[in-house]
Amino acid sequence: MSPVTYKEWPFVEAQRIISRLARTGKPGVVAETGYGPSGLPHIGTFGEVARTSFVIQALAALAPDVKASIVAFSDDMDGLREVPKNLPNAEMLKEHLGKPLTSIPDPFGEEESFAHYMNKKLREFLDSFGFTYQFASATEKYRSGAFDEGLRKVMEHYDEVSDLFRATIAEEKRAGWSPFFPICENCGRIYSTRVTGYDPKACTITYTCDVDSPGKYAACGHSATTTILGGACKVGWKVDWALRWYCLGVDYEMHGEDLLESSRLSSRIVKVLGGEPPELFKYELFLDENGKKISKKIGNGVSLEQWLRYAPVDSLLHFMYIKPQQAKRMGLPLLPEIIDQYLELVESWDGSEDSPVPFISRLSSKGHAGRLADQKLVTYSLILQLILALNQDDPRIVRDYLLKYQPGISGNVAYYEQLIEDALAYYREVLLPARKSEEAGHEMDKALEAMRDILVGLRDSGAAPDADSLQTMAFQV
Ligand SMILES: [Zn+2]
Repeated sequence: MSPVTYKEWPFVEAQRIISRLARTGKPGVVAETGYGPSGLPHIGTFGEVARTSFVIQALAALAPDVKASIVAFSDDMDGLREVPKNLPNAEMLKEHLGKPLTSIPDPFGEEESFAHYMNKKLREFLDSFGFTYQFASATEKYRSGAFDEGLRKVMEHYDEVSDLFRATIAEEKRAGWSPFFPICENCGRIYSTRVTGYDPKACTITYTCDVDSPGKYAACGHSATTTILGGACKVGWKVDWALRWYCLGVDYEMHGEDLLESSRLSSRIVKVLGGEPPELFKYELFLDENGKKISKKIGNGVSLEQWLRYAPVDSLLHFMYIKPQQAKRMGLPLLPEIIDQYLELVESWDGSEDSPVPFISRLSSKGHAGRLADQKLVTYSLILQLILALNQDDPRIVRDYLLKYQPGISGNVAYYEQLIEDALAYYREVLLPARKSEEAGHEMDKALEAMRDILVGLRDSGAAPDADSLQTMAFQV
């Protein structure tokens, strides 16, 4: 009997993991996802955990005896490079720039540190979606000694690691570069120190705190020799990634297209340490409706909050599922179409495991779309049209109308009630304001045409109006 071959990408990924296990002889699988706690978790964080979960689901189907876990790793020993916007106590945070995130007070005053607050938010966020994962903190790993063996390996291969890294940076930066970033024992900063010597036998480094960051902080000038173990020292990001793979035994990790170069370098470094790079999977970043890259600074695309306000979470899971290796467009104007693609897929699902539908329904703890009894498709766009046609802001009227003409939804009425609420919010907050500004645009066009006619008339009549009367005319128009 030939084995069943599935075409969906999580199965293809799971198959890679199975081949890896056959090669390494490891009994279980560790998949890692990354989180930078200098800001709150966002749609990208969601996407990475969701996609990794799809792969682990596929692995469970293909190899039910293999134990697999997802480690959600928080880079909370990284320093804070700039004061994030939208957080309270900006002045206080500014004082702590350059320090590890777990050494900075919580701007909200609730938790032990800045990173503890963000880590708590990450866990709440992942728990709210019902993801299965284990949380890991970089600071805890470093301080507990869990990374010590790996740190010793970095020290043992100081030159090889440094050579690999130096080849990827500008020539003028090469001389002063070290894999180690000691935390200044005097001022507590991590980005203000410079390594001046190291002793591989003693596992210590000597440093001076003299790297100023103009406008942000001044280095304190302290010099010392410190152990590299137990959290006194961190390694730089690309070495850090390799260290994590080595110490946690990571078998599988996804990363964005922006980290492709990092992943290549970290793969080389982990081999120098004596480990094996995980199976990597590169996903593409999102574009907005105009094809521009999504950026938190610009606020384009669709934020996680917006998605959950206007659309069901299973439609978001589907969006994360489909073609992760293609740059996909997402924007508020595209949202109805994106949701409908998902609803159409569910309606046409043949019950096969080799489809996105079962992956999504296993993850969406908050309910999900299902095939309708009468095989009639009720789309988000249809609901929006209904709202527009009925000119109704009352979800009950829209629901009753739908139930009358599409009774098939009665089997999953709670889902459609929520879909109506979502569509109503989209109608009120996205569609109506867009229409109003469009109408305002038309008004402006008319006014400009009127002004042009008056000016043409004045020119043709040979009159020479003064500035005041021109201005009065403009206001009248
Ligand atoms: Zn210092």
